[in-house]
Amino acid sequence: MKLHEYQGRELLRRAGANVQEGRLAHTPEEVRAIAEEFGEPVVVKAQVHVGGRGKAGGVKFSPTPEKAYENAQNILGMDIKGLTVNKVLVTKAVDIDAGTEYYVGMIVDRNVGSYTLMASSEGGMDIEEVAAATPEKIIHHRVDPITGLRPFEARDIALKAGFKGNLNKIADMMVKLSEAAFERDAVLVEINPLFVDADGTPMVLDTKFEVDDNAMFRHRDLADWRELEAEHPLEVEASEYGFAYVKLDDGNGGVLGNGAGIVMTSLDVVNRAGAKPANFLDIGGGAKADVVYNAVKLVSKDPDVKSIFINIFGGITRADEVAKGVIQALDEGILTKPVRMRIAGTAEDEAKALLNEKSSDLIKMYPTMFEAAEEAAKEANSAAEGK
Ligand code: GDP
Ligand code: MN
Repeated sequence: MKLHEYQGRELLRRAGANVQEGRLAHTPEEVRAIAEEFGEPVVVKAQVHVGGRGKAGGVKFSPTPEKAYENAQNILGMDIKGLTVNKVLVTKAVDIDAGTEYYVGMIVDRNVGSYTLMASSEGGMDIEEVAAATPEKIIHHRVDPITGLRPFEARDIALKAGFKGNLNKIADMMVKLSEAAFERDAVLVEINPLFVDADGTPMVLDTKFEVDDNAMFRHRDLADWRELEAEHPLEVEASEYGFAYVKLDDGNGGVLGNGAGIVMTSLDVVNRAGAKPANFLDIGGGAKADVVYNAVKLVSKDPDVKSIFINIFGGITRADEVAKGVIQALDEGILTKPVRMRIAGTAEDEAKALLNEKSSDLIKMYPTMFEAAEEAAKEANSAAEGK
């Protein structure tokens, strides 16, 4: 989950870092009022989940409240790389020319099996550009996952990166950055620019903060920060059931299976059979009838879905439980689209017996996934043609 700048700042502030003062606003009037209250120049900053907002015109220095109002009028509603700005952060401006802009960041680095801390004197600009043009200007340091970043290491990195200013304070900020990353299971935390003023004191002026989605259950307090309106409603519902679900564009065939691998294969098979998968849905291992029922209900709700291909390889998951879930959805009138399935393995015969007993045209079972996908694709395509 990507956080907005104002949210990332809040986490760094809670970790004890010195963060530039700022307040969130949704209207130009609010922005003017905040600027008046601050009583000094402000910066109006678009809050969208992309980098390079400055270059795109989404970060504007505003010497007066009137100018802040004007800038807010331009920035709110603006489109930055396909995202509409509907809120801005108003910060107490610092005198950039009187100080220096640095870069520090922590990323999960699979090559070293830990976080890598990066530091560069070339702050303020895109770190990707620095990495491409002058890679020697970025210092890399593997952070030991047991000890975390230790102050003496941070001071050493600051020296190597050529940072000037109060190195103890700068190193302390790097340690806090690192602590925030560990504490929040971040996959990325960047401070760019890390501003060091004329007295040598560091301050966070901008941050990118991304929390590992797989760790969100450990950060329930951040759940409110998720922007549900930006997500597909079916994805929101799926996450309530704990499903791994992704809505796919331009699809006509619903797909569900038990395990990420089998679902990916299912998408390929449906594609090969001539239909277009409308979603990815992994119901996980050992699903009981109620889980299958919820999954079928979810996929059926999707107006793009014209047929449903269910691909289950029964190990811990019992085929008869799958059949029961599908039949329940049928009995309750939730299932209105043809389900073509392959359920092999544990309790396959019991499943077959249950379905035979039902003998509904809407639910059919096939011996192989190819046959089931073929039939599901046929149904999806004929429905799409309006037959
Ligand atoms: P980004 O473009 O999305 O990375 O947004 P930033 O928050 O990093 O802002 C971009 C640039 O705006 C910074 O590198 C600074 O040069 C400038 N900027 C940001 N905050 C201030 C500030 O408080 N005062 C001044 N003078 N410039 C700022
Ligand atoms: Mn930045």
